[in-house]
Amino acid sequence: MQSTRLDSESVVVVGAGFGGLSAACHLADAGADVTVIERRDHLGGAAGRIERDGFRFDTGPSWYLMPEVFERFFGQFGREPSDYYSLTRLDPNYRVFWKDGDSAAVPADRPGQRELFESYESGAGDALEAYLDGAAEAYDVGMSEFVYERRPRLRDWVDPSLLRAARGLTLLGSMDDHVGDYVEHPKLKQLLEYTLVFLGGSPYNTPALYSLMSHVDLDRGVYYPEGGMAGVVDGIAELARDLGVTFERGTAVTGIEPAADGIAVTTAEGRRTVDRVVSNVPPAYAERELLPAGVGDHDPGYWDSRTYAPSAFMLYLGVEGDLPELSHHTLVLPTDWRPHFESIFDQASWPADPSYYVNVPSQTDESVAPDGHSTVVVLVPIAPGLDDSPDQRVRFRETVLDDIAAHTGVDLRDRVVVEESASVTEFASMGYPRGTALGLAHTLGQTGPFRPDHRSSAVSGLYYAGSFTDPGIGVPMCLISGEHVADAVREDVAAAADAGGRSLVPALLRSE
Ligand SMILES: Cc1cc2nc3c(=O)[nH]c(=O)nc-3n(C[C@H](O)[C@H](O)[C@H](O)COP(=O)(O)OP(=O)(O)OC[C@H]3O[C@@H](n4cnc5c(N)ncnc54)[C@H](O)[C@@H]3O)c2cc1C
Repeated sequence: MQSTRLDSESVVVVGAGFGGLSAACHLADAGADVTVIERRDHLGGAAGRIERDGFRFDTGPSWYLMPEVFERFFGQFGREPSDYYSLTRLDPNYRVFWKDGDSAAVPADRPGQRELFESYESGAGDALEAYLDGAAEAYDVGMSEFVYERRPRLRDWVDPSLLRAARGLTLLGSMDDHVGDYVEHPKLKQLLEYTLVFLGGSPYNTPALYSLMSHVDLDRGVYYPEGGMAGVVDGIAELARDLGVTFERGTAVTGIEPAADGIAVTTAEGRRTVDRVVSNVPPAYAERELLPAGVGDHDPGYWDSRTYAPSAFMLYLGVEGDLPELSHHTLVLPTDWRPHFESIFDQASWPADPSYYVNVPSQTDESVAPDGHSTVVVLVPIAPGLDDSPDQRVRFRETVLDDIAAHTGVDLRDRVVVEESASVTEFASMGYPRGTALGLAHTLGQTGPFRPDHRSSAVSGLYYAGSFTDPGIGVPMCLISGEHVADAVREDVAAAADAGGRSLVPALLRSE
């Protein structure tokens, strides 16, 4: 399928998040005439950039994980990440402040990690080794069989050879139970479970299969790309242009509809018809706002019944002075974080005792803050759909800054010289249902074939890339989703050729 050329195909990609950018690169590389239409002036979607008074903030992702996925992505075009940006491996990976006064730096190397675990619980060093061996196996099988491999139908997941490959993975119970089989100390459990927040889940609703995230974090390492995540976006956009992709920025798509000779895409400039459309906007938004009424793969009830990943309360702070107490990545955690998870997934409310993440990229990259200043991003996961009125945001800001002062020893309150914020309203404005910051949580029922498909079954020639599809949330996963979309397009083009040439009416609604 890789070899199927797309030289006579015209494609519009709606949205320039990582999924859209990746799809654009793969499709253009296969010969398609690709135009990316992006509503905003900047590319990268959730990975935006704020620049103000000498401070530079990544608005979304800040953990560069799974470097091999980026190497593979650029390698598919004969490039390497280092052609576009350099990487620094962080050590420690991150620091944790617990709210009982304790703190620990999590080292990048295995001996240091063993020592840290052993210092909390006798025997936990060996337990960590055993846990990470299982996580590495889950990662290898998971990536090769489930993530890189596109398996659009349920029956592709119950293939006997696949089940044999996955026989060691009896990991469908909850992460919390699985971790409890290895370590008992609540702080060690938190160190093995916090990565689930990257997937938009909790240790109580995410299958233990995702223990593979500890392999990602503790074995494969945490990196910082030069220029932050926006530097990665710039690199991929440059690659896309080299491959012949055209960008139209600051242009919103207002309609996508089947047409007699393809698919029609409407913007303020008018209507154009192309052979195929890749939507990188959330499918719920595309179905509600862009497709004709009643045309879509899901009814509105489907979207109402989903479990969404958390939204986030974000503060972007330009701060006077250095912050030696904080690492590049710092977590601040109550020793019992269950009430915070309950406030997200069970009884939606603003957390009284929040767990949160503080990012200080100026610890690694002097160019993101003026001399003598620091760039700070605070991310507090909160329930999607919460009312984030201006008053509420002011109150919660105070709660968070007080909490940082009380538990990290850093009082930012009188040192802030630049400030921006984002919360449910801003994420909802991106078309993310209920203002989730990440998409569909990776619960068992929303993993793999249970996520929205890359290929629309309602509109022939329409495809979906990005975090709402398979494999899911996170920059590496969205890059892979773009590759899957290109594979689906190649399959469809090859099938049409086999059937005696391309259909003259590719965008007619299918009857099924
Ligand atoms: C606060 C935060 C922190 C995160 N941290 C990490 C992290 O540390 N590491 C990590 O790997 N991942 C992280 N993630 C997740 C990761 O950023 C996302 O999963 C990923 O970037 C989503 O990409 P996407 O392809 O789904 O597209 P999106 O980012 O959703 O982009 C969609 C694009 O479509 C555009 N668009 C919408 N409507 C229209 C329209 N009508 N016409 C044209 N264009 C339109 C939007 O403007 C946007 O550019 C984080 C996310 C957030 C929000």
